[in-house]
Amino acid sequence: MIKRQTTINRIFKISGIGLHTGRQVTLEFLPRREFGIAFVCKGTIIPARYDMVADTRLSTQISNGDISVATIEHLMAAFYFSGITNCLVYIDGPEVPILDGSAWEFYQGMWKAGVYEFPDSGVYLKVQRPVEVSHKDAWVRIKPLNTLDITMSIEFRQPVGKQKKRVTDVENAFSIINSRTFTLLEEIEAIKKAGLAKGGSLDNAVVIGMDDIVNPHGLRYRKELVNHKILDLIGDFYTSGYRILGKVEANRTGHYLNNMLLRELFSDTANYSIY
Ligand SMILES: [Zn+2]
Repeated sequence: MIKRQTTINRIFKISGIGLHTGRQVTLEFLPRREFGIAFVCKGTIIPARYDMVADTRLSTQISNGDISVATIEHLMAAFYFSGITNCLVYIDGPEVPILDGSAWEFYQGMWKAGVYEFPDSGVYLKVQRPVEVSHKDAWVRIKPLNTLDITMSIEFRQPVGKQKKRVTDVENAFSIINSRTFTLLEEIEAIKKAGLAKGGSLDNAVVIGMDDIVNPHGLRYRKELVNHKILDLIGDFYTSGYRILGKVEANRTGHYLNNMLLRELFSDTANYSIY
């Protein structure tokens, strides 16, 4: 468990294609003294913060003026798991590369770069009062607790059905880091017709067929899909700017509700404390 602000110990790059644009993108990671994670695109700095989130329909997208960076959530989760609090990410396109659909390659890059610790604290946000947001049958809530504890439920058509998972030791939950994004087979056509997921393939997403997983090697974990929803939530919650401590319970949540929860949390300073 990290106690202080940290950054990466050396510069590194990661390249890959964007899921929606299908275009090659390169990220360059630079150490940062200032607190927080921020992207730099076309000379514009965009803090990776919940109040910069402008679109949550297919991924978490941040914007500053007319410059946007999409699909930041898996990268943000990698920062969380690596214990990195301060970093500048230079990006030469509008979307973070999808890589294998998980946070694994980002996490490996950060692990190889190493962690540099600053003397400054103020990296934890402790929830002081319960906060909840919901939309139809989807909801996410957080209650005071001294650790981060996440229980996630999802429900999709067969062969997925209902899945539930609780992670108590989130900082060391390595099966979350490499769990991949997924889609239902019947949704691919509509997404492609809308001009999205141009870079989507079985190399970067799990595709759920009518009676089995389409990917030739199947799933990485029996609960890979619910694991990935936890990965998304961890990445989205890290746009709070802090390592959140609290008991999280979520049912069918996504990027929209995850962002709404942070907005609700920060709407009253009595809801949390920073240390
Ligand atoms: Zn995801």
